[in-house]
Amino acid sequence: EAGSSPGENCSVKVAVHIRPLIGDESLQGCKDCVAVVSGKPQVQIGTHSFTFDHVYGSTGSPSSTMYEECVSPLVDGLFQGYNATVLAYGQTGSGKTYTMGTSLKDGCHTGLIPKVMDALFSKIETLKHDIEFQLHVSFIEIHKEEVRDLLDPSSASKLETGNGHAGKVTIPGKPPIQIRETSDGVITLAGSTERSVKALKEMANCLEQGSLCRATGSTNMNNQSSRSHAIFTITVEQIRRIHPGVSSDDILNDCMSEEYLCAKLHLVDLAGSERAKRTGSDGLRFKEGVHINRGLLALGNVISALGDDKKRKECVHVPYRDSKLTRLLQDSLGGNSRTVMIACISPADINAEETLNTLKYANRAR
Ligand code: ADP
Ligand code: MG
Repeated sequence: EAGSSPGENCSVKVAVHIRPLIGDESLQGCKDCVAVVSGKPQVQIGTHSFTFDHVYGSTGSPSSTMYEECVSPLVDGLFQGYNATVLAYGQTGSGKTYTMGTSLKDGCHTGLIPKVMDALFSKIETLKHDIEFQLHVSFIEIHKEEVRDLLDPSSASKLETGNGHAGKVTIPGKPPIQIRETSDGVITLAGSTERSVKALKEMANCLEQGSLCRATGSTNMNNQSSRSHAIFTITVEQIRRIHPGVSSDDILNDCMSEEYLCAKLHLVDLAGSERAKRTGSDGLRFKEGVHINRGLLALGNVISALGDDKKRKECVHVPYRDSKLTRLLQDSLGGNSRTVMIACISPADINAEETLNTLKYANRAR
């Protein structure tokens, strides 16, 4: 498992984000059990050593460089028509929500999503003379293999049954959200809100509204949000204005049509990676654990199949259909799309076992 150097041309990049010891852990006298090899993207825990594309925090690179190094190229790719996915993986409490920037508590200005939004609108500002942009946002949650619309308040009540049958109540007239695939392989979400946004403020409002909806959608909020995948998706459509006499632009070189480009970026705050046994012994919880493992398991298998050159050449089956999560991300993982997984870890010795699991999972991805 000790690392060879990361693959140069691989479309999946893997970074590790080590958060600091937080209040409780320091108070309990936890020790830091994660070391970063000086000057290398290499993490050591116990006798294990792993090399990734980047390591941030706790004496790795400063977290402030994460956006530029990991996500900025994906945002640039959007303008060339390439789909992309950013995934935050890790046990509950490891910093996934903090890293993505959807935490209401930590403010909406620290994480990756707010930086994506800033960069997107700055770039559009410089291009809008020649290109007309249409932006759409959706924000959904996958919980127990069901898709829930975080931008539609009526969808929230669906899970608030409080009688142990969460998610099984259907609202008359509102069919469940379905993942569909068009004949040319584009994945769509039928029945979910696609909000058209024109300004940064509007997009930020969607992020905030959905984050709030996620946090309050269940009476048992911590459990629900730690067991669900939250997916914030930005779709960028470009319609080129044709000015007579203006020659073609580099931006549109790679596209099939000179007039139209469409690409989307999924920003995913994954369910907690801790195993089912930690989540309690009653039947319902266990079922939740099993379902979430299905998404994370399928994701691990998909990403590992994509990252493995040998498997790719042999056209090994990529198991997208094994979960709603991978099905939804199908057209934005692999192929021409770009993927970044950020494995979030706690440095505390009490979390050592889960941290090792996270590093092993992330290591499989590259
Ligand atoms: P998760 O979403 O993985 O369950 P959170 O993002 O909610 O974890 O983080 C758990 C706690 O740790 C929060 O109180 C958060 O503010 C804090 N935290 C996470 N990452 C960092 C970081 N890089 N720096 C400082 N505090 C952090
Ligand atoms: Mg979280």
